[in-house]
Amino acid sequence: MSTTHVIGAGLAGLAAALTLSAAGRRVTLHEAGPAAGGRCRSYFDRGLGCRIDNGNHLLLSGNLAAMAFLDEVGARDTMGGPGEPFFPFMDLACAETWSISPSAGRMPWWLLRRKTRIPGTRLRDHLAILKLARAGAADTVHSVLGRSGELYRRLLEPLAISALNTRPDTALARLLAPIIAETLLRGGAHCIPTFPRDGLSESFIDPAVETLKSRGATIRLASRAVSLRVGGERLAAIGFSDGEIELPPGDGVVMAVPAWVAADLLPGLTTPNAFEAILNIHYKTDAATPEVWARAGFCGLIGGTAEWVFAKPGIVSVTVSAANHLVDLPADEIATRVWADVAIAYGVPGPMPPVRVVKEKRATFAATAEQEARRPASRTHLQNLMLAGDWTATGLPATIEGAIRSGRNAAQHLLAA
Ligand SMILES: Cc1cc2nc3c(=O)[nH]c(=O)nc-3n(C[C@H](O)[C@H](O)[C@H](O)COP(=O)(O)OP(=O)(O)OC[C@H]3O[C@@H](n4cnc5c(N)ncnc54)[C@H](O)[C@@H]3O)c2cc1C
Repeated sequence: MSTTHVIGAGLAGLAAALTLSAAGRRVTLHEAGPAAGGRCRSYFDRGLGCRIDNGNHLLLSGNLAAMAFLDEVGARDTMGGPGEPFFPFMDLACAETWSISPSAGRMPWWLLRRKTRIPGTRLRDHLAILKLARAGAADTVHSVLGRSGELYRRLLEPLAISALNTRPDTALARLLAPIIAETLLRGGAHCIPTFPRDGLSESFIDPAVETLKSRGATIRLASRAVSLRVGGERLAAIGFSDGEIELPPGDGVVMAVPAWVAADLLPGLTTPNAFEAILNIHYKTDAATPEVWARAGFCGLIGGTAEWVFAKPGIVSVTVSAANHLVDLPADEIATRVWADVAIAYGVPGPMPPVRVVKEKRATFAATAEQEARRPASRTHLQNLMLAGDWTATGLPATIEGAIRSGRNAAQHLLAA
């Protein structure tokens, strides 16, 4: 029986391995790190004395591939959140709070009443969102949505930054369009926010690894691919530090490593080569979550450095996206600056609690026109080698949804071949 090798056990690699194993293929998954998960993982932080995620990850019910992944590995019930379309916000400049609750169906009834709209916005402002569907190949979020008005400042800008992880003046509107089309434009039923109750690994990674094992897949941790050997029109062997694995005819490979690793392993491959950082600042505190957003478990903050705050048991965790301009500052400076915002949101102006700043310097590729043009298709010039990863040409920005779809897609191509 032939074997399919999946290189990289992030979400793309796990999704590929799940698809292949469900189709009855023998699968070996090779992961360079000591654990699976890649950019979506939990770990024990010795300084804080507890487990944390490398970064807060928020999903929406409209992320259908991600929801199907959770169902397949039996982990949907590990996800928390308000259970309804509900997004609380606070404007740090004036301490005003509000929430949005998109109506369940496609008809946006919630926009018709001033009381349910974002404060300071008019119904007609929202028509701008429809322009995204007609965005040109090089149009930025700014050039399509403008950059002024309360709708922009209080919704579109934070949405674009968190979805694209790129500042709106260079971020590609075409990558925001599918996100909006698959969630907001389909109505509230597709906009229910959800995130792991315990941790990313507990929801996404460990159950996927267990499912793969139960299907007979082999998982090789601390197994780093260091070279690829090509023979004719196919990949003939994968080199690891402890030796080469030959690929007899019939064996296939899904390479689901980060863009820069793929470019090193496969000469001539063009991949995104500019990246954006995400900062996550985890404060160890039992501060009581403000009542207005306790129901959601998170809150969007406008007008400060902190962007999204997540309340977890014993931890307040803050995300700052598109953070290349901050990432090289000392960690304590970042923590102090962000704590000032959290103190306003929580109404607790006390001393800063113990903190861990996690800097993911290459969190995602920069979602610009230039980088979009560098995203390769899943199929390569080698008939038994497919690519997967959030950086491949999925049509989506670098997200869990994109990573999972890319893995499914690569696996389907191999199965078809
Ligand atoms: C801080 C942060 C916050 C985020 N927030 C969100 C969010 O809120 N919502 C959302 O949808 N997305 C979010 N994302 C994006 C999401 O995490 C990624 O899109 C997704 O995890 C990428 O998965 P991947 O499998 O494509 O890549 P990776 O996770 O990078 O997986 C690649 C794997 O390959 C392994 N590897 C590398 N080199 C080798 C080698 N030579 N041999 C073998 N293995 C190798 C790596 O160790 C890794 O496990 C966030 C990302 C970060 C960093």
